[in-house]
Amino acid sequence: MADKGTCKAENCAKPVVGRGYCSGHVRKWKQGALPKARYKTCVETGCRGRQVAKARCATHAKIAPAPGSEATPTAS
Ligand SMILES: [Zn+2]
Ligand SMILES: [Zn+2]
Repeated sequence: MADKGTCKAENCAKPVVGRGYCSGHVRKWKQGALPKARYKTCVETGCRGRQVAKARCATHAKIAPAPGSEATPTAS
């Protein structure tokens, strides 16, 4: 069983090199650009940050308005 099979990414039939992905997709996976990233990514559009709270990255978790309160001005 030396053959690990083909990449599990959609429409990709390249040989697997690791994590079930081919070399190209392994790189994407490491960047968090695949649905099954090594960590959950921030739900904000275009953000690939790692989720830390409220399904958002550290940056977005802080600026995201609390549920029910629309953009409440904060005294800072
Ligand atoms: Zn692939
Ligand atoms: Zn984010």
